[in-house]
Amino acid sequence: MTEVSIREVGPRDGFQNEPEVLPTADKVGLVDALARTGLRRIEVTSFVRADVVPQLADGREVLAAIDVPDGVARSVLVPNERGLDDALEVRERFEEIGVFVSASQTHNAKNVNRSIEASMDGLLRVVPRAREGGLRVEATIVTSFGCPYEGRVDRAVVLGLARRLADAGAQEIAFGDTTGMANPVQVREHFLAAREALGDVELTAHFHNTRGQGLANVLAALQAGCESFESSVGELGGCPVPPGSTGNIASEDLVGMLHEMGVQTGIDLDALVGAARAAQALLGRPLGSHTLVAGPIDWRVD
Ligand code: ZN
Repeated sequence: MTEVSIREVGPRDGFQNEPEVLPTADKVGLVDALARTGLRRIEVTSFVRADVVPQLADGREVLAAIDVPDGVARSVLVPNERGLDDALEVRERFEEIGVFVSASQTHNAKNVNRSIEASMDGLLRVVPRAREGGLRVEATIVTSFGCPYEGRVDRAVVLGLARRLADAGAQEIAFGDTTGMANPVQVREHFLAAREALGDVELTAHFHNTRGQGLANVLAALQAGCESFESSVGELGGCPVPPGSTGNIASEDLVGMLHEMGVQTGIDLDALVGAARAAQALLGRPLGSHTLVAGPIDWRVD
């Protein structure tokens, strides 16, 4: 493996979980900075109900104000058909949508207040409509590696949902460890099985660093052939349920590790650390990323 793709999800997965609502201009500034690091995919915001996620109620304004170079794909999260309708009103401002469903009934119910089948009914309409609108579609299976409410999640259920979403038109399937339960052995087996089950659909790993296993899981996924990862600047992020779910793997920790292993990302690590510092300053508290504390490895030091 010599090159992988990274999607930055801090502006959505990260900001969604901040207790305070950030000013729109600050969000725009961070997206613009991230878009100049060499990242080619950024999840900018979400079209969820403003009363459910007030932190992202200004998604439309953020999309209108950001200034992203050509070649950087802007993505928005769409929870359901109404979210897609809202997003399509500003269709020219993004290239990709993300949809999601949990592989655990209890997590899905707590997260979006409906059954897996009810979620799938909606998504199987959303995905083809988005494709007809010329959008690229990523579908994430949340709690792919375990559920804090139900424990083990049957891999056949996870891959079955993935297969149906891919058949409906999703070009990319992400497996989410939203609550930080995955281990590297399980991740390796999972991605080998997913490649078998899903043919040439793009497979993406979405790991949270809840228990410090995020980068070990990245290595396992990489060794099983995964070439696409999601991460969050500064290790921002979490999950609305359950409480205690902490951030995504930090983008700068991920990029630093990959570069040290000789895996290219196209990202300028110093610029990315600069963006992480800016995010830390915005939020006014130390963020979880290790590279923010230690700085990138410098082999020239004597
Ligand atoms: Zn996440």
